Amino acid sequence: MRPDTSIAVAIIGGGIAGVTAAIGLLSKGISVKLYERASAFREIGAGIGLSPNAERAMLLLNPDVHAVFKKVATPNTEDWFQYVDGFNKSEKGDGEELLFKVYLGERGFEGCRRTDFLNELVKLLPEGCVEFRKDLVNITEPQDEGTMITLHFADGSTSTADVVLGCDGLRSRVREHVLGVEHPAVRPSYTHKLAYRGVIPIEDAIQAIGKEKSLTRFMHLGPGCHVLTFPVSMCTMLNVVAFVTDPNDWPSLDQTTLPATKEEVLESFASFGPVVTAIMNLLVHKLDKWGIFDLHESPVTTYVSQGGRVCLVGDAAHAAAPHHGAGAGSAIEDALALAVALEEVDKTLSASQQPVSRQMAISAAFSAYESVRYERTQWLIESSRFMGEVFEWQTALCEADPANCQSEVEWRSHKIWDYDVDQMVEAVSAIFGSKVSEALGHDRGL
Ligand SMILES: Cc1cc2nc3c(=O)[nH]c(=O)nc-3n(C[C@H](O)[C@H](O)[C@H](O)COP(=O)(O)OP(=O)(O)OC[C@H]3O[C@@H](n4cnc5c(N)ncnc54)[C@H](O)[C@@H]3O)c2cc1C
Repeated sequence: MRPDTSIAVAIIGGGIAGVTAAIGLLSKGISVKLYERASAFREIGAGIGLSPNAERAMLLLNPDVHAVFKKVATPNTEDWFQYVDGFNKSEKGDGEELLFKVYLGERGFEGCRRTDFLNELVKLLPEGCVEFRKDLVNITEPQDEGTMITLHFADGSTSTADVVLGCDGLRSRVREHVLGVEHPAVRPSYTHKLAYRGVIPIEDAIQAIGKEKSLTRFMHLGPGCHVLTFPVSMCTMLNVVAFVTDPNDWPSLDQTTLPATKEEVLESFASFGPVVTAIMNLLVHKLDKWGIFDLHESPVTTYVSQGGRVCLVGDAAHAAAPHHGAGAGSAIEDALALAVALEEVDKTLSASQQPVSRQMAISAAFSAYESVRYERTQWLIESSRFMGEVFEWQTALCEADPANCQSEVEWRSHKIWDYDVDQMVEAVSAIFGSKVSEALGHDRGL
């Protein structure tokens, strides 16, 4: 028979949120089963940057996660994130004027290829803890706390768990369970920006735009479009994300990625300056374009189900446009908060003199998780949209005075990067403790 003190956690989705949450929970001795719809772990070859707050969260989650990131991450050659005018041709230097730069902080903002990071992360998962080709379609969460939650998969199979973490991304099925299928946040909104993504061999980039522009992080700003570039794969490739404002509706109901051509990109950036044009010319002929969706227009009102045993993590909870480059970092912060909260459940259930029920402890843990995560992650959604407008010269504030642009980028970035992760961990434990005491007091009629 299952010991009363243990909890069985099911994780839906094997992206960065699901895999880091699984590693974090396993490190705390908690039993985890991860269900992924695809037939293998899959990430795209494009780059991803992880900011200092994400690195601090990795260290607390499990130092091996951080070691894996350091193994695949490419250090910047500068301590600054530089913002340049990619549109107007400057008479000076390489034709791009430096508008401002923002200090990157103690650990920088290092980039890697997503595939490299995920491939290394999954090596930290023990054999047997992942099931592939498990497409979750529904969840039954009984009100009766003695009965486990049932997961229903598209292949007709079912599985049970005490706790479910919905790490199933932008179009989350678990979100439907938490909010109800009629809730508007079940459908993410198109931000009317799309992104073309590519990686370019670094020698080609250096030849076309020089060493300085190829070996560190730059944001090339302009009207209605902007481009982010940073080195990945140990400086052997330059990662390019070219954003374009799109007045139209996204043409697909179920696909967020559609095929595109280099001609399309060149057309969008036709009036841009020489550096951006040179970068675009280096892209391959057939590429993908990504519709940028978020949960801004209809926010997720709670991350925890009414029954209190299912919760949302990463993009499933708070998908944001990528203009802060912070979505995956936030997912890692979520994973840490949950690992701490569910460890508190385990500890509380093991302390036999405490008459705390499994349900009460889980509900206190998720309540603590939501308390520390909701405001910050909802702010990220809103701020990410705003940053997209700042970078594409679409805000009156920045038009009035470009210095406003710098100060907006600076305080918002540092709000993300300088986050006190230790304090978050302490807050989770403290809130959990007070929720449990409150519930026990209530039970005793105090
Ligand atoms: C252009 C772009 C650039 C970005 N750049 C950065 C950056 O530099 N830094 C950063 O921190 N963030 C960045 N982000 C954001 C980041 O990519 C996301 O926030 C992060 O990948 C979300 O991870 P996730 O695990 O929550 O979701 P996902 O990566 O979407 O993973 C969800 C997983 O769940 C699985 N799944 C879905 N439905 C089901 C189901 N029903 N049953 C079972 N499994 C299911 C999927 O197959 C998938 O494996 C960027 C995003 C974009 C679009």
